[in-house]
Amino acid sequence: MAKVSEIYGSMVFNEHTMQERLPSATYKSLLKTIKEGEPLDIEVANVVAHAMKEWAIEKGATHYTHWFQPLSGITSEKHDSFLDPCGDGRAIMTFSGKELIQGEPDASSFPSGGLRATFEARGYTAWDPTSYAFIKDEVLCIPTAFCSYTGEALDKKTPLLRSMSAIDEQANRVLALFGEPRQRVVTTVGSEQEYFLISEKDYEKRQDLIMCGRTLFGYAPCKGQELEEHYFGAIRPTVNEFMKELDDELWKLGVSAKTKHNEVAPAQHELAPIFTNTNRAIDENLLTMEKMRLLASHYGLVCLQHEKPFEGINGSGKHNNWSISAGKKNLLDPGDSPMDNLRFLVFLTGVIQAVDDYQELLRMSVASAGNDHRLGANEAPPAIISMFLGDELGAIVDALIDEHEYTNAEKVAMDLGVAVLPNFLKDNTDRNRTSPFAFTGNKFEFRMPGSAVNLSDCNMILNTAMAKSLKDFADAMEGLEGEQFEAAAIAYIKETLTKHQRIIFNGNGYSDEWTEEAERRGLANHRTTADALPCFVSPKSIALFEEFGVLSAAEVASRYEVKLEKYNKLLNIEARTMKRMVRRAYLPALNDYAAEVAGNITAIKAACASADVSPQNALLQKLLAGIKEIDTQLNRLDEAHHAAIEIEDQQERANEYAHNVISVMDALRAAVDAMEIITDRDHWPVPTYNDMLFYV
Ligand code: ADP
Ligand code: MG
Repeated sequence: MAKVSEIYGSMVFNEHTMQERLPSATYKSLLKTIKEGEPLDIEVANVVAHAMKEWAIEKGATHYTHWFQPLSGITSEKHDSFLDPCGDGRAIMTFSGKELIQGEPDASSFPSGGLRATFEARGYTAWDPTSYAFIKDEVLCIPTAFCSYTGEALDKKTPLLRSMSAIDEQANRVLALFGEPRQRVVTTVGSEQEYFLISEKDYEKRQDLIMCGRTLFGYAPCKGQELEEHYFGAIRPTVNEFMKELDDELWKLGVSAKTKHNEVAPAQHELAPIFTNTNRAIDENLLTMEKMRLLASHYGLVCLQHEKPFEGINGSGKHNNWSISAGKKNLLDPGDSPMDNLRFLVFLTGVIQAVDDYQELLRMSVASAGNDHRLGANEAPPAIISMFLGDELGAIVDALIDEHEYTNAEKVAMDLGVAVLPNFLKDNTDRNRTSPFAFTGNKFEFRMPGSAVNLSDCNMILNTAMAKSLKDFADAMEGLEGEQFEAAAIAYIKETLTKHQRIIFNGNGYSDEWTEEAERRGLANHRTTADALPCFVSPKSIALFEEFGVLSAAEVASRYEVKLEKYNKLLNIEARTMKRMVRRAYLPALNDYAAEVAGNITAIKAACASADVSPQNALLQKLLAGIKEIDTQLNRLDEAHHAAIEIEDQQERANEYAHNVISVMDALRAAVDAMEIITDRDHWPVPTYNDMLFYV
């Protein structure tokens, strides 16, 4: 095994490689683009493209691709070879600056939400130089944004990059008030990816896992997660081998996979990388997810990334750790001096305002059919957004709002009325796992995203909402200086915190009391995707996106439509898979088993006329009643499903699925699951939860 330091980033055209391979003027100019967002000159691009191609060929690459994130949320690539025939039977390998900067995939099959008619199907991809190019399976992958010819974004990355610019601009206005020079401000993300690994042999036998990524049937295993022995437990040897190869592959791609451990549920695991700037972090997360799926097959395993593969045990999330940094400074780090603290409080207040004002959008950004099974299910935060600040910071915020003196742990009184703010400690210790949006010392952890989601949407919204808070602050403060500025800033903070106090909640987010309390506070509670999506197209949301040039009204409408369609399509697939499995697998198996039990009764009676066959009879009756119940629920589902499909309007169809069809699916599942535990295991047509979750 090569040393980690030797393989780390070896497949990435990173700054080190750039410096090594590019003439110094080109390198400097490219760095300006990367660090300061300056546009890239075509001359420079030509030189970069040539160096990149030479480097890639040395590493064994034969093709290149513009790697992008369509609205469907997974990544897309179309491979072109570097090959250029010379006309004399030979060929050379070429790659121009134009090919690096721009591609033209025929993308008529990508969802666009009506933005683009098929006759103008071509879109173009444009290199995002702030994300490094890398080599994956002998293909040079160039991270790109994907747009239509009229300039509308057709991907997840473009609006994210626009939101990064918005926050850069507004944060710089705020930093200028603190006397700081213009610098590049970015948001940073570290995403913790949870997933399940199960055996390929079991997976192959489950239509529901193959078609829907989750089990639509299955009785709880004898042992669930109640012993909590799996969390941080010793990792199974096969899984360990998988994790090692995954680390190696990720390290080569410059993904700094840092921690790996078993999660709470049996067969569940987690991987967390070291954070980086948001757009790169999302590229890395998508690559990580892809590598996980691919490498699992090397070990006879399947990696399940669905938010809720198994009922009754935890589902999988993807915590989005988020902060804002200016150069090496973390702007959500309290800092040591009073002025640092004031700046910190300005940014903190900005986040609180952003999360309160745009709570519904944030909730919307993580809404999916899969995540609906997690949120509010006592394993993940509720569908209500609230913020947890921790004891110390919470006390400081309270003191600011009530204008009373803040007394810290050491009982040192601090005067909050003047410019000198408490020099408080980082609050790294308390953790409230039930909070959807928790301050964890120097960053916020957004815990609602599900394991399958592309984090671009929620970060695009967080960044834009934060840009709005910072803009409001800068608008109110520009022109003030020195003590005048400090006094005005403190007054502004107090006023804003008072206004948005309702979003702060330090208690147990899983409790029923919180749902009631949240309602009293006027916080939104959109339980299902169908309820959560409409706010995307509300005038308030569109105004926000348009104000910062992140999305136009047409782009918002198209994204809303794509999300709705995806939800409806997934539920359609789930309903169909359920019906098919019941008709073709469960009912035939149950009928066979009932016939066998009936045959046994006759055989026993024939052999011994006086035998007491009441237990066999009782079992037979239960099976027959179960079959009847399954049939009843199957017919109900058939009707409900067809009623949903007939609804033209996508939002109304989604409502129908969310509020009617799903409860019938649940009833059908319950009917089948009830039979699973009284049926002979050899007759049961699919692997059970016991089999799938407790393999060796
Ligand atoms: P926990 O399980 O307690 O939430 P982890 O160590 O699993 O903690 O995950 C913490 C994540 O937060 C890591 O991915 C880490 O890189 C990330 N993180 C740390 N600091 C920042 C920051 N300033 N901005 C964004 N993410 C951060
Ligand atoms: Mg976490």
